Amino acid sequence: MIKKFIRKILGVKGRTNHEPDILGPDQHGIDPKMVSSNAVRVTSTLQEAGFEAFVVGGAVRDLLLGVKPKDFDIATNATPEQVKRLFRRAFIIGRRFQIVHVMFGQDLLEVTTFRGTTTDNAPKDEHGRVLRDNTFGSQAEDAERRDFTVNAMYYNPATQQVLDYHGGIGDIRSKTLRIIGQPEARYREDPVRMLRVVRFAAKLKFDIEPSTAAPIKVMAPLINNVPAARVFDEMLKLLMSGQALACLQQLRKEGLHHGLLPLLDVVLEQPLGFKFVTLALDATDRRIMAGKTVSPGFLFASLLWHQVLEKWNAYQAAGEFPIPALHLAADEVLESQTEKLALQRKIGSDMRDIWAMQPRFERRNGKNPYKLLEHLRFRAGYDFLLLRCASGEIDPELGDWWTAFWEADEVIRAEMVSAVSSGAGSKRKRPPRRGQRHKEGEEGGADAEAEAADDAQADEADDFDSAPPDSNGAPPKRRRRRGPRRNRRGGGEGGNGPAGDAASGQ
Ligand code: ATP
Ligand code: MG
Repeated sequence: MIKKFIRKILGVKGRTNHEPDILGPDQHGIDPKMVSSNAVRVTSTLQEAGFEAFVVGGAVRDLLLGVKPKDFDIATNATPEQVKRLFRRAFIIGRRFQIVHVMFGQDLLEVTTFRGTTTDNAPKDEHGRVLRDNTFGSQAEDAERRDFTVNAMYYNPATQQVLDYHGGIGDIRSKTLRIIGQPEARYREDPVRMLRVVRFAAKLKFDIEPSTAAPIKVMAPLINNVPAARVFDEMLKLLMSGQALACLQQLRKEGLHHGLLPLLDVVLEQPLGFKFVTLALDATDRRIMAGKTVSPGFLFASLLWHQVLEKWNAYQAAGEFPIPALHLAADEVLESQTEKLALQRKIGSDMRDIWAMQPRFERRNGKNPYKLLEHLRFRAGYDFLLLRCASGEIDPELGDWWTAFWEADEVIRAEMVSAVSSGAGSKRKRPPRRGQRHKEGEEGGADAEAEAADDAQADEADDFDSAPPDSNGAPPKRRRRRGPRRNRRGGGEGGNGPAGDAASGQ
């Protein structure tokens, strides 16, 4: 209480204390049943071998808030080699700062050796971002290196004590996010912390303490110097936090919705797409809150859809058929975003599949709807279609038809298809083809030809597969696909560093 009072008077942001406050179960109220048995296994094995070991970081924060942690990180004074020797399935990962992944079945726990404080000699980039700082240290030093006071507490399952070095307990109680140390210096060292504070504020419904918030607006552009793959990881956490919409609102509130993340600029600057994105994020949040899985591919396909749509329309207006026009638009958008976002190959491929299915939902005659129903990612494509209907982009009748078709038995399905095939609604409008403007009276023939060409494209779109547009890093050529795309995939499958990753769409 007195310490809190002194801190308040002095305006001290996060103590740097070498002696932690130690709180027993009556004081912190953590329910030991919420601690994963595997985390207890890891800490007790390390402790029995003579080491210190604690649950640390977000898990302690969440336990204190009475929320089930999504994962458990362990901090110890054992070196990675010493940790590895104690567990049957343990893998040292990371070249610069090694950590150990300990596996129990599907459960993965990250075990980190206490890190030492950042020294002035640590290598930095020209903006002051710390590039490498890999010394081991004491627990107090480890606490000082963590980002926010509420993330710098250690819980020992054996004694049920919480060790609090920076007043994290008080900040949990007052729902405050406070950076440890001098805010500008900490953001300069690692600009990703600016994203993290926004994410935590939205996710935890905490306030950002004024001096923690103040430098963000000015320093936000430093995010641009962080490797794309790292920003992408953090952004994915933000979007999949179950509070993505709240995070976006928080970004706006902090004045961070421009310049912080290239993708958010794209999303928030397209007024037409905003409703679509809001609906998509809301649906994602609800799925996550209900404990369901969410596909990053679906999420990113939604975020970038209106960019694709704009280009798709432009290609069609220029005389391209709908399906090749969509391929070209998808190529372009993925090309321009892969590098900025370091989109993984699998995510890019899922996005393409979802986009490519969209025109096929309009083909409700003959065998088309049955074929689409069998598509491996039908569900994702259909959910996407419903979002397009809900956002007002297309007539909701189409979504309703597919819902009914999906739920119907064979007899009704056949009736639905024949009703569509005989109705006027089945006729698709197509743009006049470049260099093929037909004379009056020849309309039927030209249209039939166009229809056949587009049907062929649609069939190929079944195989609108995972090949990224730029698997060899070259800009996408305008092309009509012939033959299976798979055969034409370039190299670039691997690519270790972030640059390689970005170029190959990994
Ligand atoms: P979440 O519930 O979203 O996983 P978390 O706090 O556990 O939140 P992680 O990214 O899993 O977040 O990081 C684990 C811990 O590592 C954090 O609680 C914090 O102590 C430390 N940490 C992570 N990123 C940073 C960073 N950029 N700078 C300093 N400390 C960090
Ligand atoms: Mg975590």
